[in-house]
Amino acid sequence: MEALIVAHGLQKYFGTFHVLQDIDFSIRKGEVVCIIGPSGSGKSTFLRCINQLESIEGGYVSVDGEIAGYRRDGNHLYPLSDREIARQRQSVGMVFQRFHLFPHRTVLENIIEGPVGVQKRRKQQCTEEARALLKRVGLAHKADAYPGELSGGQQQRVAIARALAMKPKAMLFDEPTSALDPELVGEVLGVMKELAATGTTMIVVTHELGFCREVADRVVFMDAGRIIETGTPAEILENPTNPRVKSFISAVL
Ligand code: ADP
Ligand code: MG
Repeated sequence: MEALIVAHGLQKYFGTFHVLQDIDFSIRKGEVVCIIGPSGSGKSTFLRCINQLESIEGGYVSVDGEIAGYRRDGNHLYPLSDREIARQRQSVGMVFQRFHLFPHRTVLENIIEGPVGVQKRRKQQCTEEARALLKRVGLAHKADAYPGELSGGQQQRVAIARALAMKPKAMLFDEPTSALDPELVGEVLGVMKELAATGTTMIVVTHELGFCREVADRVVFMDAGRIIETGTPAEILENPTNPRVKSFISAVL
């Protein structure tokens, strides 16, 4: 099947620091890929490049055939305006370690902000969809609550619903459970498992190796700005041959 998201020869610098070095990556529709690796290896930066939150210095990212930041016309690529980039970015939803909900808006208002305010879709329709999404993440009863009244796990589930409300083609998760108390991790992973089981294309940066083993179609290992291993969960997690992968996994477990 054709790839939904591709990174090819991706190069990213922060000043003179070469943070992403020649990244080649692809994910097919419906696939779940987990990215693991040590802190500082470039995992967050890679997700941010996919979602055009960072500029890149070489190579390209494409989502569903569109080159990020460009419009194709015959054999030519033309840079997009900021407005067109904002439109293009909606094709990928992102969930961060911290939830970034609007504190003075209710849960429901947080979820419809994007579809109504940004996508200019009808409020009534978006409200119905938001209620369905809240049900899906187990929070139908919290529609009128404010973020501050929710636990971290509940806030993260709202953040997932809010990203889904934009109807993205793929979802990126950047350590979505790292900021949570241990007893709240399971409810968020449960929602992500349900998304995976229903065909959502997902790239998940996580240290939850149990989740990787259970849910990932493929696991990618990053170290020092490079992808150094990619394989099935069994290949990467159970029988790592690369010594760096091996020592990382034994440290996390
Ligand atoms: P990871 O998510 O794997 O922990 P990051 O992508 O956050 O790694 O960071 C990769 C490297 O880039 C780290 O060395 C980090 O300090 C550096 N870095 C991240 N963001 C910036 C930035 N905005 N400016 C300069 N350096 C950065
Ligand atoms: Mg990170």
